[in-house]
Amino acid sequence: MSVFNTTEMACPACGAAVTFQLVHSVNAVRRPDLRVAILDRSFQRQPCPSCGTSFRVEPEFTYLDIKRKQFLAVWPASKLAQWQEVEARSQASYDKAFGPGTDGAALAAGGMLARCVFGWLGLNEKLIAAEHGIDDVELEMAKLATLRELGDIKLGADREFRLVGATDDELAVGWLRTSTEDIDDEYSVPRQLLNDIHAEPEKWASLRADVSGGMFVDYRRLLFAKE
Ligand SMILES: [Zn+2]
Repeated sequence: MSVFNTTEMACPACGAAVTFQLVHSVNAVRRPDLRVAILDRSFQRQPCPSCGTSFRVEPEFTYLDIKRKQFLAVWPASKLAQWQEVEARSQASYDKAFGPGTDGAALAAGGMLARCVFGWLGLNEKLIAAEHGIDDVELEMAKLATLRELGDIKLGADREFRLVGATDDELAVGWLRTSTEDIDDEYSVPRQLLNDIHAEPEKWASLRADVSGGMFVDYRRLLFAKE
């Protein structure tokens, strides 16, 4: 079931009260339109009835797609710095719903992609990768390898290096702004890089450890690691 709560929010432009259907959970099998709206970036975006400014609310919900075997705990981008604590909470939610001995255990049998993501851009990337048959761990490894090659690691909470599309031969990746979702720089990376990573696991083992290890599978795991 997809669940929404009706809530009043202040318009970020004029401060007027806006009635918002705030999402709590998405069931993408029953509501495929919500998945489409996430991908086209219209989900949870609406205009203020007073001033007309369109705005989008930071995500905080559970995304479940039993058909595609995806469980995504979606958190506000602003919580990235607390990713370790958020990852633990996400794991607890997943275990409660789909862990051994639960009603959901049978649904998760055969493998469920269980991830936590931060912000709309993080969520979109997981959906885009799955759509193109790309393993998200290998994708993050490829992104980190690409950034090292480019020598262009932009730190900061408002910059994200994300997959934005793919063809049979190439990955389209780019630097996006968390706040506006605008893309600043876009690069094409040969999809062969994913095959290379897949073919030589030992060579890439340390990079794999940098981007994975829990539900937060992301190159920023390394960059925002606590000392
Ligand atoms: Zn307004």
